[in-house]
Amino acid sequence: MKNSPISEEVGLPGFAPILVIAPPSVTKNWEVSTKIIVIWPLNFCCLVFLINLCSTISLQNEFSSWGHFNVAPIYGGSGREKALDRIKIGLDFILIVGKSTFTRADDFEALISVHWKMIIVDEYHEYKNHASAAHMRLADLRDKSACPVIGMTGTLMQNNHKELYHLIDMVRPGLFGDWSTFRTDISDPLKYARAKDAKAECVSMGKDRQKVLDRMLKPVYLVRKKEEALKDNLTKKNEKVVFCQLSDVQKQLYRHILTLPDYDLLRFANAPCECGVNTQYFIRYKKLKTKKEQIAYQRRHKDQLKSKKRCCFRYPRNPYWDDNDLSEPFIDPDAILWKQLHDKPIGDPDSIEEDILDNKYITCKQCPSCIQLPAMMKLMKICSHPSLLQVAHSEVGESKRKKLEFAEVALPPEIRSKLPGGTLYQYESLTNNHVKLSGKMKTLDYLVRLELLSTCPVSVLFFVVVTCFAIFLF
Ligand SMILES: [Zn+2]
Ligand SMILES: [Zn+2]
Repeated sequence: MKNSPISEEVGLPGFAPILVIAPPSVTKNWEVSTKIIVIWPLNFCCLVFLINLCSTISLQNEFSSWGHFNVAPIYGGSGREKALDRIKIGLDFILIVGKSTFTRADDFEALISVHWKMIIVDEYHEYKNHASAAHMRLADLRDKSACPVIGMTGTLMQNNHKELYHLIDMVRPGLFGDWSTFRTDISDPLKYARAKDAKAECVSMGKDRQKVLDRMLKPVYLVRKKEEALKDNLTKKNEKVVFCQLSDVQKQLYRHILTLPDYDLLRFANAPCECGVNTQYFIRYKKLKTKKEQIAYQRRHKDQLKSKKRCCFRYPRNPYWDDNDLSEPFIDPDAILWKQLHDKPIGDPDSIEEDILDNKYITCKQCPSCIQLPAMMKLMKICSHPSLLQVAHSEVGESKRKKLEFAEVALPPEIRSKLPGGTLYQYESLTNNHVKLSGKMKTLDYLVRLELLSTCPVSVLFFVVVTCFAIFLF
């Protein structure tokens, strides 16, 4: 059950699949930008993060810092059937096609056989001619799937009312009524008002109708301002810090990780060593009567107190290690981070700092602080999404080996079984509990629902550019 992508438990997410139609010349760009589009898995709507392509944020990193998402292939060339199959069984949830592919008869037949949840059209102004094949096919596709259409354009021709009418009618059918009524009520008065010799009442009527048109356009036509304008409008006014709890699985995983020898080593590094080296210090300390004397003693003799990291616990020592029994290694076998950092080729004169342990680990001068950063990174991953400790299928070679080694100790069976797929590997598709597993995502999900429900009762898309994205990064 767990391994079947079409099972009830882990079926196609409620928002998928989504079709993206782009002009052939930009389909490559779309391939890049899909990596930064995060489709938010809500039941009744979806959220699209559209981060500006000019941004310096590494797109792939941004994407993977949130969780594990599938990025869809381009539909075209010889792989088109396979791409469509992956969409149909739910392995991918966005399909990108070029406009020419989309309008070609046999490809269109294949596309219309899928029940799309949403269609996103880039360079939408190219669909302004309602008698063109592109426009008619798009309408057919929309009607067949009965799904929302999102048009994106930098040049919506507002002066040509007929084109505007048909572009809007595609995304919100019936909003303007039929064309002849729209022409009589809106288009003609606006045209007359613009004439050189227009009478005063014509001009006044034109202004009035322009207001009506603007009001009608407001809920369907979202103007995406230039980044500069957006910066002032959004980040300054809307920035809020929201604290969120870890999910139960995250808490369990976090607590477990803290018991691993790598983390134990770091957590108690500054505690006094218990091997006996500090016995004299404590005997004398206990004889002191007043608080004042104790504090004075601590200050005077602080150099005599030996911390674990400066004494017996510079390295993650194996608690079962025994001088007389050579079968146990000196280093704790579960100290994956330390072992991976110090497993260097012996014989390289540059790498030898101090000792060689277990005949393969070369210690460094910073031990044990050297594992602080990798240890923190793992904890941060847990806080984003527990699935990030599972190994991606795209991983290969040394990096894969290291991640698997860590996942093996970090994800014992009782925790592993609660993650998507229930194995050490990331599940290939998105699962329905993807949001529930992460406290951050759960909170974001709640905020988005709140926002959507309070501003707009129908399902809408939320376009968020990079400046705004920061609002949600907590
Ligand atoms: Zn000691
Ligand atoms: Zn070290």
